[in-house]
Amino acid sequence: MAEQRRDQRSAGDAREEAPVVTEPRGRGALKEEAHAWEELVATARRTVSDGLVVGTSGNVSVRVGDTILVTPSGIPYDRLTPDDVTGVDLDGRQVLGTLVPTSELPMHLAVHRTTDARAVVHTHAVHATAVSTLVTELPAIHYMTGALGGPVRVAPYATYGTDELAENMLHALTGRSACLLQNHGTMAYGATLDQAYDRTAQLEWMCRLWLTASSVPGLSPSLLSEKQLRAAGERLRGYGQRK
Ligand code: 13P
Ligand code: ZN
Repeated sequence: MAEQRRDQRSAGDAREEAPVVTEPRGRGALKEEAHAWEELVATARRTVSDGLVVGTSGNVSVRVGDTILVTPSGIPYDRLTPDDVTGVDLDGRQVLGTLVPTSELPMHLAVHRTTDARAVVHTHAVHATAVSTLVTELPAIHYMTGALGGPVRVAPYATYGTDELAENMLHALTGRSACLLQNHGTMAYGATLDQAYDRTAQLEWMCRLWLTASSVPGLSPSLLSEKQLRAAGERLRGYGQRK
Protein backbone atom coordinates (compact mmCIF):
# COMPACT_ATOMS: atom_id res chain seq x y z
CA MET A 1 0.00 0.00 0.00
CA ALA A 2 2.92 2.32 0.78
CA GLU A 3 3.75 2.89 -2.88
CA GLN A 4 0.27 4.33 -3.35
CA ARG A 5 1.01 7.28 -1.05
CA ARG A 6 1.50 10.40 -3.13
CA ASP A 7 4.40 11.75 -1.13
CA GLN A 8 6.28 8.47 -1.12
CA ARG A 9 5.60 7.98 -4.82
CA SER A 10 6.97 11.35 -5.78
CA ALA A 11 9.95 10.84 -3.45
CA GLY A 12 10.99 8.00 -5.76
CA ASP A 13 10.92 10.29 -8.78
CA ALA A 14 14.50 11.28 -9.67
CA ARG A 15 13.35 14.63 -11.12
CA GLU A 16 12.07 15.80 -7.74
CA GLU A 17 14.45 17.01 -5.05
CA ALA A 18 11.75 18.05 -2.56
CA PRO A 19 12.04 16.52 0.93
CA VAL A 20 9.78 13.57 1.71
CA VAL A 21 6.65 14.79 3.45
CA THR A 22 5.12 12.08 5.58
CA GLU A 23 2.45 13.85 7.60
CA PRO A 24 -1.17 13.40 6.41
CA ARG A 25 -2.45 15.88 3.85
CA GLY A 26 -5.48 18.02 4.72
CA ARG A 27 -7.57 18.10 7.86
CA GLY A 28 -8.74 15.25 10.11
CA ALA A 29 -12.03 13.49 9.39
CA LEU A 30 -15.15 14.71 11.20
CA LYS A 31 -17.24 12.14 13.08
CA GLU A 32 -19.87 12.07 10.31
CA GLU A 33 -17.17 11.58 7.67
CA ALA A 34 -15.56 8.74 9.63
CA HIS A 35 -18.95 7.01 9.83
CA ALA A 36 -19.63 7.55 6.11
CA TRP A 37 -16.16 6.14 5.32
CA GLU A 38 -17.04 2.90 7.18
CA GLU A 39 -20.21 2.59 5.09
CA LEU A 40 -18.34 3.38 1.87
CA VAL A 41 -15.73 0.69 2.58
CA ALA A 42 -18.49 -1.84 3.39
CA THR A 43 -20.22 -1.02 0.09
CA ALA A 44 -16.97 -1.32 -1.90
CA ARG A 45 -16.27 -4.71 -0.27
CA ARG A 46 -19.77 -5.83 -1.15
CA THR A 47 -19.19 -5.13 -4.86
CA VAL A 48 -16.35 -7.67 -4.71
CA SER A 49 -18.09 -10.29 -2.53
CA ASP A 50 -21.24 -10.14 -4.69
CA GLY A 51 -19.17 -10.61 -7.85
CA LEU A 52 -19.85 -7.18 -9.40
CA VAL A 53 -16.13 -6.44 -9.67
CA VAL A 54 -12.86 -8.35 -9.59
CA GLY A 55 -9.80 -7.07 -7.70
CA THR A 56 -9.57 -3.30 -7.46
CA SER A 57 -11.94 -2.58 -10.35
CA GLY A 58 -14.80 -0.16 -9.74
CA ASN A 59 -15.07 2.66 -7.21
CA VAL A 60 -17.52 4.19 -4.75
CA SER A 61 -18.18 7.70 -3.46
CA VAL A 62 -20.41 9.24 -0.80
CA ARG A 63 -21.11 12.90 -0.11
CA VAL A 64 -20.97 14.47 3.37
CA GLY A 65 -21.77 18.18 3.09
CA ASP A 66 -19.51 19.43 0.31
CA THR A 67 -16.90 16.73 0.88
CA ILE A 68 -16.87 13.70 -1.40
CA LEU A 69 -15.37 10.59 0.19
CA VAL A 70 -13.98 8.25 -2.48
CA THR A 71 -12.25 4.90 -2.68
CA PRO A 72 -8.51 5.32 -3.26
CA SER A 73 -7.12 4.14 -6.62
CA GLY A 74 -5.86 0.58 -6.99
CA ILE A 75 -6.11 -0.55 -3.36
CA PRO A 76 -7.91 -3.82 -2.52
CA TYR A 77 -10.97 -2.90 -0.48
CA ASP A 78 -10.26 -5.48 2.23
CA ARG A 79 -7.06 -3.56 3.08
CA LEU A 80 -8.78 -0.23 3.73
CA THR A 81 -8.77 0.93 7.35
CA PRO A 82 -10.38 3.94 9.10
CA ASP A 83 -7.02 5.74 8.71
CA ASP A 84 -7.27 5.53 4.91
CA VAL A 85 -10.22 7.94 4.68
CA THR A 86 -9.86 9.78 1.37
CA GLY A 87 -11.88 12.87 0.47
CA VAL A 88 -11.98 15.69 -2.05
CA ASP A 89 -14.01 18.87 -2.45
CA LEU A 90 -16.39 19.39 -5.35
CA ASP A 91 -13.50 20.77 -7.44
CA GLY A 92 -11.49 17.60 -6.86
CA ARG A 93 -9.00 19.14 -4.40
CA GLN A 94 -7.94 16.57 -1.80
CA VAL A 95 -9.11 17.58 1.67
CA LEU A 96 -8.79 14.24 3.49
CA GLY A 97 -6.04 11.61 3.50
CA THR A 98 -2.87 10.93 1.53
CA LEU A 99 -3.92 8.11 -0.78
CA VAL A 100 -4.46 8.92 -4.45
CA PRO A 101 -8.24 9.16 -5.06
CA THR A 102 -9.93 6.90 -7.62
CA SER A 103 -8.94 7.51 -11.23
CA GLU A 104 -12.66 7.94 -11.99
CA LEU A 105 -12.88 11.16 -9.96
CA PRO A 106 -14.17 13.07 -13.05
CA MET A 107 -17.22 10.75 -13.29
CA HIS A 108 -17.98 10.84 -9.54
CA LEU A 109 -17.59 14.63 -9.33
CA ALA A 110 -19.75 15.14 -12.42
CA VAL A 111 -22.60 13.20 -10.78
CA HIS A 112 -22.23 14.94 -7.40
CA ARG A 113 -22.08 18.39 -9.02
CA THR A 114 -25.09 18.01 -11.30
CA THR A 115 -27.56 15.71 -9.49
CA ASP A 116 -28.98 15.30 -5.99
CA ALA A 117 -26.87 12.14 -5.53
CA ARG A 118 -25.41 11.37 -2.11
CA ALA A 119 -23.70 8.18 -3.28
CA VAL A 120 -22.26 6.79 -6.53
CA VAL A 121 -21.24 3.22 -7.38
CA HIS A 122 -19.18 2.21 -10.45
CA THR A 123 -18.59 -1.48 -11.28
CA HIS A 124 -17.38 -3.74 -14.09
CA ALA A 125 -20.29 -6.18 -13.56
CA VAL A 126 -19.96 -8.86 -16.22
CA HIS A 127 -23.47 -9.05 -17.71
CA ALA A 128 -23.86 -5.27 -17.73
CA THR A 129 -20.48 -4.86 -19.42
CA ALA A 130 -21.40 -7.54 -21.98
CA VAL A 131 -24.63 -5.68 -22.81
CA SER A 132 -22.66 -2.41 -23.17
CA THR A 133 -20.82 -3.99 -26.12
CA LEU A 134 -24.02 -5.05 -27.92
CA VAL A 135 -26.57 -2.22 -27.85
CA THR A 136 -26.86 1.53 -27.28
CA GLU A 137 -29.71 1.10 -24.79
CA LEU A 138 -30.75 -1.86 -22.62
CA PRO A 139 -34.10 -3.05 -24.05
CA ALA A 140 -36.99 -2.66 -21.57
CA ILE A 141 -37.11 -6.32 -20.61
CA HIS A 142 -38.44 -5.84 -17.05
CA TYR A 143 -40.50 -3.34 -15.09
CA MET A 144 -37.50 -2.58 -12.83
CA THR A 145 -36.36 -0.41 -15.76
CA GLY A 146 -38.92 2.04 -14.31
CA ALA A 147 -36.96 2.17 -11.04
CA LEU A 148 -33.96 3.61 -12.91
CA GLY A 149 -35.96 6.37 -14.62
CA GLY A 150 -36.53 4.53 -17.92
CA PRO A 151 -34.54 2.47 -20.45
CA VAL A 152 -30.88 2.47 -19.44
CA ARG A 153 -28.60 4.12 -22.01
CA VAL A 154 -25.04 3.16 -22.92
CA ALA A 155 -22.51 6.01 -22.76
CA PRO A 156 -20.14 5.87 -25.78
CA TYR A 157 -16.67 4.56 -25.02
CA ALA A 158 -13.91 6.87 -23.84
CA THR A 159 -10.67 6.11 -21.99
CA TYR A 160 -11.18 5.41 -18.29
CA GLY A 161 -10.58 8.32 -15.93
CA THR A 162 -11.04 11.04 -18.58
CA ASP A 163 -13.28 14.11 -18.67
CA GLU A 164 -14.58 12.78 -21.99
CA LEU A 165 -15.89 9.65 -20.28
CA ALA A 166 -17.49 11.78 -17.55
CA GLU A 167 -19.18 13.89 -20.22
CA ASN A 168 -20.50 10.86 -22.12
CA MET A 169 -21.75 9.38 -18.84
CA LEU A 170 -23.59 12.56 -17.78
CA HIS A 171 -25.36 12.66 -21.13
CA ALA A 172 -26.43 9.00 -20.81
CA LEU A 173 -27.67 9.66 -17.26
CA THR A 174 -30.15 12.39 -18.31
CA GLY A 175 -33.42 11.53 -16.51
CA ARG A 176 -31.93 8.23 -15.23
CA SER A 177 -30.23 7.10 -12.04
CA ALA A 178 -28.01 4.58 -13.84
CA CYS A 179 -26.27 4.00 -17.16
CA LEU A 180 -23.88 1.60 -18.82
CA LEU A 181 -20.40 2.61 -20.00
CA GLN A 182 -19.56 1.04 -23.35
CA ASN A 183 -16.96 -1.75 -23.08
CA HIS A 184 -16.41 -0.75 -19.45
CA GLY A 185 -19.17 -1.20 -16.85
CA THR A 186 -21.96 0.41 -14.82
CA MET A 187 -22.59 3.75 -13.15
CA ALA A 188 -25.45 4.31 -10.68
CA TYR A 189 -26.27 6.88 -8.05
CA GLY A 190 -28.76 7.27 -5.23
CA ALA A 191 -29.77 9.07 -2.07
CA THR A 192 -27.78 6.55 -0.01
CA LEU A 193 -24.97 4.04 -0.58
CA ASP A 194 -27.53 1.23 -0.21
CA GLN A 195 -29.73 2.74 -2.92
CA ALA A 196 -26.82 3.31 -5.33
CA TYR A 197 -25.65 -0.25 -4.68
CA ASP A 198 -29.14 -1.72 -5.11
CA ARG A 199 -29.63 0.09 -8.42
CA THR A 200 -26.31 -1.32 -9.61
CA ALA A 201 -27.32 -4.86 -8.63
CA GLN A 202 -30.76 -4.47 -10.28
CA LEU A 203 -29.12 -3.18 -13.46
CA GLU A 204 -26.71 -6.11 -13.56
CA TRP A 205 -29.62 -8.51 -12.96
CA MET A 206 -31.66 -6.95 -15.80
CA CYS A 207 -28.71 -7.20 -18.18
CA ARG A 208 -28.34 -10.85 -17.27
CA LEU A 209 -32.07 -11.36 -17.82
CA TRP A 210 -31.96 -9.73 -21.27
CA LEU A 211 -28.89 -11.74 -22.34
CA THR A 212 -30.58 -14.95 -21.15
CA ALA A 213 -33.92 -14.27 -22.87
CA SER A 214 -32.37 -13.02 -26.10
CA SER A 215 -30.04 -16.01 -26.43
CA VAL A 216 -32.85 -18.48 -27.22
CA PRO A 217 -32.47 -19.31 -30.93
CA GLY A 218 -35.43 -18.32 -33.10
CA LEU A 219 -37.17 -16.32 -30.37
CA SER A 220 -36.87 -12.76 -29.16
CA PRO A 221 -38.09 -11.44 -25.81
CA SER A 222 -41.22 -9.32 -25.46
CA LEU A 223 -40.46 -5.78 -24.30
CA LEU A 224 -42.43 -3.29 -22.21
CA SER A 225 -43.97 -0.15 -23.71
CA GLU A 226 -43.25 3.38 -22.43
CA LYS A 227 -46.74 3.41 -20.87
CA GLN A 228 -46.11 0.14 -19.04
CA LEU A 229 -42.76 1.42 -17.77
CA ARG A 230 -44.29 4.69 -16.58
CA ALA A 231 -47.02 2.84 -14.67
CA ALA A 232 -44.41 0.58 -13.04
CA GLY A 233 -42.20 3.57 -12.20
CA GLU A 234 -45.08 5.38 -10.50
CA ARG A 235 -46.09 2.30 -8.54
CA LEU A 236 -42.50 1.63 -7.49
CA ARG A 237 -42.41 5.00 -5.73
CA GLY A 238 -44.80 3.51 -3.16
CA TYR A 239 -43.08 0.10 -3.08
CA GLY A 240 -42.26 -1.53 0.26
CA GLN A 241 -43.19 -0.62 3.82
CA ARG A 242 -44.85 2.67 4.67
CA LYS A 243 -42.41 4.92 6.50
P1 13P B 1 -9.57 3.00 -9.55
O1 13P B 1 -8.86 1.84 -8.82
O2 13P B 1 -8.62 4.12 -9.86
O3 13P B 1 -10.80 3.41 -8.80
O4 13P B 1 -9.99 2.45 -10.99
C1 13P B 1 -10.85 1.37 -11.17
C2 13P B 1 -11.75 1.56 -12.34
O5 13P B 1 -12.78 0.91 -12.40
C3 13P B 1 -11.40 2.51 -13.43
O6 13P B 1 -12.43 2.59 -14.37
ZN1 ZN C 1 -13.98 1.17 -14.26
